[in-house]
Amino acid sequence: MQYQLSDSDLLFRDDVRGFLSRELPPAISDLVRYSQPVPMQIRKDWTRKLHQQGWAAPNWPVEYGGTGWSMSRRQLFEVEMRTHNAPELEGFGFNMVGPAIIRYGSTEQKDFFLPKILNAEINWCQGYSEPQSGSDLASLKTLAAREGDDYLINGSKIWTSAAEHADYIFALVRTDPSAKKQLGISFLLIDMTLPGIEVRPVLAFNGKRLWNQVFFTDVRVPRQHRLGDENQGWTVAKNLLGNERLMVSRVAENKRILSRLHELLATSDDLGGDLEASFYKRLAELEIRLSGLEATASRLLSRFDLGQSIGAEPSMLKLLGSQLVQELDRLLYEVIGYYGLPEDAVSRSGDVSPVHSISSDMIASAMFHHRGYTIAGGTSEVQHNIIAKQVLEL
Ligand SMILES: Cc1cc2nc3c(=O)[nH]c(=O)nc-3n(C[C@H](O)[C@H](O)[C@H](O)COP(=O)(O)OP(=O)(O)OC[C@H]3O[C@@H](n4cnc5c(N)ncnc54)[C@H](O)[C@@H]3O)c2cc1C
Repeated sequence: MQYQLSDSDLLFRDDVRGFLSRELPPAISDLVRYSQPVPMQIRKDWTRKLHQQGWAAPNWPVEYGGTGWSMSRRQLFEVEMRTHNAPELEGFGFNMVGPAIIRYGSTEQKDFFLPKILNAEINWCQGYSEPQSGSDLASLKTLAAREGDDYLINGSKIWTSAAEHADYIFALVRTDPSAKKQLGISFLLIDMTLPGIEVRPVLAFNGKRLWNQVFFTDVRVPRQHRLGDENQGWTVAKNLLGNERLMVSRVAENKRILSRLHELLATSDDLGGDLEASFYKRLAELEIRLSGLEATASRLLSRFDLGQSIGAEPSMLKLLGSQLVQELDRLLYEVIGYYGLPEDAVSRSGDVSPVHSISSDMIASAMFHHRGYTIAGGTSEVQHNIIAKQVLEL
């Protein structure tokens, strides 16, 4: 299925493609193409390049350094970036806490944090989940007791991605243990260098550090580092997801994986030699499902752009988009087989070079990583519940 782009969309797409062909060297796009890690410095340099172009924050208003684009235009931009294998920017800053600071931040917070995010000067991590609070996030227990002008934080956060590189953590903490659970929570922006913060690695099955547990012991956080009102952190957190829920379809990422799959099928005679007809049937089915996902996402984005309400339907995008990524990963792996294994999956040595010079793809590594999409940002079971209750009204 092909969508008809308007003349202005076509001009815009040409502009983006021109920029990418001038500014994105193959040495960088190949890292993304072959599912290899993109070093932090390269990611930062790419962020600054996009910022100079005015495109680093498609989801922010113009007055704060964003583009002010409609959702549909953002989606078009995202598809071009991903299918040309541009590195992803730091999502916690640009997509999560940045928009929340724009909406709820004091002037000082905006002046301090927003330029630093745009210039890739700070990294963030997200401190929501706790050892006993995941899907039922509002039951979180990390305590923030008022002491004069500070909060004294005690407790711990778990599954904290990227905490080992983070300069700040945006965290939900309990400021009123006696209130109804959603009402006693505040949202803090915490400097990770404060005394009393300890970051311990949580290793994945292959020995890689995928997450962390962050411990807070008598950590003193100044009150002015609270975002929004005291005990209103749940509202901030819900709004933080707000419109971003519409961008969870992973259409762009799915298209990137699909184009890599076609590239491999077309160019690598010695790969996937024994693929059966059923493989191509499954591939065709996934392509049809991806078209369906794109159509649904475009419909919701257009409705949003027209000012209509969206409700809980983005849960469908999250669910179907993550499932598709995983199924396309599976096909990629069937094509490339053992050559897609990075050494660390075999030897657990920590070396992430590919196992064979025939290919620089690290498809197995990406495939295992993408399994987490079922859980991160709200599990598939929880999305099913939301769809059943709020969309289908069962
Ligand atoms: C790759 C990855 C990155 C992550 N990064 C971060 C991060 O940076 N910061 C952060 O704060 N957290 C992060 N998380 C944690 C993530 O948000 C939680 O894992 C998620 O919310 C689920 O919580 P839980 O692990 O405690 O599982 P639980 O909530 O205990 O769920 C366990 C199982 O029970 C099911 N279940 C729970 N409730 C229901 C229900 N009502 N109905 C039906 N089934 C239910 C779940 O679907 C799941 O299968 C990350 C997770 C992953 C996988």
